[in-house]
Amino acid sequence: MPEKNPEIANELLRWYDSNARDLPWRAAPHSNSANPYHVWLSEIMLQQTTVAAVKPYFAKFTEQWPDIAALAAAKEEDVLAAWAGLGYYARARNLVKCARQIMAEHDGVFPSTEQALRTLPGIGDYTAAAIAAIAFGQRAVVVDANVERVVARLYCVDEPLPNARKAIRSLTDGITPQSRSGDFAQAMMDLGSSVCWAREAQCAICPLQPYCQAGQADMALRYPVKKPKKAKPVRQGSAYWIEKQGAIWLVKRRDDAMLGGMRALPDNGWRARNDGDISPPLNGPWSDIGDPVIHHFTHFTIHLQLKAYQGSVESMEAVIGQNSGEWWPVETLEAAGLPTLFAKAAKIGQQQLGRLL
Ligand code: SF4
Repeated sequence: MPEKNPEIANELLRWYDSNARDLPWRAAPHSNSANPYHVWLSEIMLQQTTVAAVKPYFAKFTEQWPDIAALAAAKEEDVLAAWAGLGYYARARNLVKCARQIMAEHDGVFPSTEQALRTLPGIGDYTAAAIAAIAFGQRAVVVDANVERVVARLYCVDEPLPNARKAIRSLTDGITPQSRSGDFAQAMMDLGSSVCWAREAQCAICPLQPYCQAGQADMALRYPVKKPKKAKPVRQGSAYWIEKQGAIWLVKRRDDAMLGGMRALPDNGWRARNDGDISPPLNGPWSDIGDPVIHHFTHFTIHLQLKAYQGSVESMEAVIGQNSGEWWPVETLEAAGLPTLFAKAAKIGQQQLGRLL
């Protein structure tokens, strides 16, 4: 373990004072007054998602649900629909659960300690530390992917990720200051996103260059060391386009399935572990529309073929009427809040079937 070096934090905070990114959920450096609701919402949205992608969603959410009480009172299906396109939908379901728990158990006020924050749905170690430091000015060790990269380079951490996480956390602990730890965390994130990039390290303009082992040795891009990735499995599936008088049949996905609780086109039961093997919702005829949609989930890739029902309206109504779902106007499918995979398939349906039917 290297000796603690307070100069690293001092130097970085000096840089942050004049280089902090202006983000809608942020408070200015030194202010210590970030809104906990905004910090929480942005941190949940930013998991696995870029700042550019999050900004419009953050604006939409804070306009529609300006505080924790409003979000707690929202219908889960409305929140899921507003989240559509951001991916990792368990985050949206946990958002609602967390808001309701804060209203029920904390009188609508965010708890301020990491320990209490960790008891809330969807808040893990990282998010608890980020909220405690950024919204409440507590000393907490905040390690996201940007911080991981910067620290691995500062100390030339040779152990591959993810095993190196414990060592990197301990090294980050060693340079986190007692005061301004929220600013320090955000400064590390900003340095990682604007100077110490994954594929290019701009060491010549970096405030930490005098302290950085990889920067000094011109070996920045060697770090962080990562285990080679396993190839993702590819699954085959179908989604079904059933149209009647300008409306499409949409179903609500089972709560315990992938993309659970969301509106979607009916499908043939594909999962992360298996291809689709369930019969179509109607006896055919079906025809393939366009090329399969290729979509990458974290653990697998799906090739999803859109199929359109070409049978009679009478046989369609006889079967569809017995299932739960809803007819949704083709013209306003964008407002249905379909998850990205199904939105891509629906786009093909709108473009190609608008002409065929
Ligand atoms: Fe990254 Fe280079 Fe700065 Fe080190 S000196 S933190 S490698 S940009």
